[in-house]
Amino acid sequence: MGYWTDGHKEIGVFGLGRSGRAAAALLRQRGFSVTGLDISDVPECPDCNRVVTGDDMRGCLEGLDGFVISPGIDPASPLPSAARELGVPVIGEIELAFRNTDIPVLAITGSNGKTTTAEWLGYTLSKAGLNVSVAGNTGYPFCRAIIENPDADFISLEVSSYQLQTIETFRPLAAAILNITPDHLQRHGNIEGYINAKARIFMNQHDNDLLILNRDDPGSIPLAGRTSGLEWYFGIGESLETGAFSTGNSIYYSDSGSGKFVIDVRDISLSGLHNLSNALAVVCLAGKAGLQPEQMVEGLESFPGVPHRIECIRNYLGVSYVNDSKSTNPDSLKVALKSIREPIVLIAGGMAKETDYSQLRSLIEDRVKALILIGDASDMLERCWSGTAPIFAEVTLHDAVKRALDQSAAGDLVLLSPGCASFDQYSSFEERGEHFRKLVEDLS
Ligand code: ADP
Repeated sequence: MGYWTDGHKEIGVFGLGRSGRAAAALLRQRGFSVTGLDISDVPECPDCNRVVTGDDMRGCLEGLDGFVISPGIDPASPLPSAARELGVPVIGEIELAFRNTDIPVLAITGSNGKTTTAEWLGYTLSKAGLNVSVAGNTGYPFCRAIIENPDADFISLEVSSYQLQTIETFRPLAAAILNITPDHLQRHGNIEGYINAKARIFMNQHDNDLLILNRDDPGSIPLAGRTSGLEWYFGIGESLETGAFSTGNSIYYSDSGSGKFVIDVRDISLSGLHNLSNALAVVCLAGKAGLQPEQMVEGLESFPGVPHRIECIRNYLGVSYVNDSKSTNPDSLKVALKSIREPIVLIAGGMAKETDYSQLRSLIEDRVKALILIGDASDMLERCWSGTAPIFAEVTLHDAVKRALDQSAAGDLVLLSPGCASFDQYSSFEERGEHFRKLVEDLS
């Protein structure tokens, strides 16, 4: 029995959010005694034997045999560092779950498209009759999945670069890296740090373990040739030896040098080139899970998509209202603008990322008929985008939706794709998206 699996030890769990509480539940199920730690004064943790907060946290480190940290906690921050100095092993929630299960893991990481691809893969495998849990950074922790569905055939696991910082033995059967663009640089220092954090997803792979890379993504080039396992690609426009590709209107899967037809591109359920790319990643992963091309079709053509990602909410007076609240950086705003054909009334803004928003000027000029700016980033965005389309500055989403109603006509599309984080006015992008949904549903 291993150190993290055989109970009878005192383990600290630092950060009692969703992942931390799931880690506590798993540890308790495996017979450990759990000390929960959190900076907040009244964290809830039903599976903790005790909870320590504030200044007392450091004092309890000495009594611990192990320390599990949540993805929101920087492993280089003072408390995990102090634990390591005392000789207490420190791991993250993903590593803990991995050590406690034999279910094969199909892992997905990247800058954009992780949740969509992980959910799409889970859906596709389920439609083919497999028992699958979709977990990880999707909001349903890996630890929770192995408690609630211990007999799954596979875990479709979304992994963030933060979560990858705290793995040790984590070794997915297949790992797809969707794309690499410079987001999240604050914690990783620079782009090399970010790429190296992503590379950890395959650091323990060997033999027939599979790494899947995006042939169309320049940011992924530094990762090629680095795995000790197999390396496949997915890409649009040219055939590939092994992996998944589209040429013309057809998607092919190839595990041995000859492409087998899977589905017509026009029949996949999500639109936009980015979703074609996500679908190709799903095909690779589903193939590695053992599906034949014909078993992939139902999932690829009927997946309903994930809320808050270019989600159509309602058509009112001939205008479509689309919720892309998950767009929290200029890259995902760019993707949304490119994937929509109707004239766009765009609602953007919130808490800006430290990147250059003026790169979107020509796309906005091309696609957007009116720009409605909200939140803290409003002035900055107005400076970046002035002259591209008529601009309306509003403070709240409520006023922005009213303005969008005024500015749109039948055949237009009102798009909430903020390109910014939500934290200036909301606690999460989900809350922002739900507010938008409510405002749109109430239009009359
Ligand atoms: P993540 O989980 O990586 O944040 P999501 O699946 O939640 O990604 O999608 C977030 C947004 O990113 C979507 O609204 C879409 O605009 C954009 N997106 C999705 N897939 C891709 C992709 N393959 N490449 C670039 N952008 C994408």
